[in-house]
Amino acid sequence: ILDTAFFRRWLELAADAVHRESPRLTELDSPIGDADHGSNMDRGFTAAALAVRTDPPGTPGELLVSVGRTLVSSVGGASGPLYGTALRRAGKALGDTHEVTPPELGEALAAAVNAVRELGGAEPGDKTMVDALLPASHAYTGVLTEGGSAQQALAAAADAALAGAEATVPLLARKGRASYLGERSIGHQDPGATSSALLLACLRDASA
Ligand code: ADP
Ligand code: MG
Ligand code: MG
Repeated sequence: ILDTAFFRRWLELAADAVHRESPRLTELDSPIGDADHGSNMDRGFTAAALAVRTDPPGTPGELLVSVGRTLVSSVGGASGPLYGTALRRAGKALGDTHEVTPPELGEALAAAVNAVRELGGAEPGDKTMVDALLPASHAYTGVLTEGGSAQQALAAAADAALAGAEATVPLLARKGRASYLGERSIGHQDPGATSSALLLACLRDASA
């Protein structure tokens, strides 16, 4: 059931995973960035989990809006406003329902991807988090359309996000700090696409 408890589980798993993977995310951000993606994400998700524990939201939408707001205010850099806006937009898409239906979760995922694209202006293939988030959103909707469950759709979304993140290695970065490197951005996995894959793996795990 995609209720508030499900989204709280996701947030706790995400805060743990981001903390655990923080060194790796920062390492990925070293050759093509400023080596802070892990610490940015860790600071943001630790603060977001704390805020939700301190003042528990009553609905899934409220929870995602709260996480988004905390990310915007606690994460400097590109990823804070991008993830923050994505989560706020996803939360708003859910409205005030207490139990999200599987198609509604698909709409929230699509709203999150669209928010990132609007704010950051990245196209697919620009070597950003969009390269993990967009295939994940498509995979989720595809599985539901074929009659799959939300759990099956989330598993497909997590797989697609991971594949999308890994497929950023040969790409030339066209947005964000990595784009300043031009051709030298080729051959490295994008840190933001990697953290997106991590967040989607946690969404899958929260549904298991
Ligand atoms: P900063 O680059 O400001 O230090 P982070 O290191 O936390 O911020 O995040 C970097 C990640 O943000 C990149 O790996 C990329 O995935 C994502 N990113 C940067 N700019 C954009 C953009 N315009 N659109 C989408 N994603 C972006
Ligand atoms: Mg950085
Ligand atoms: Mg930075």
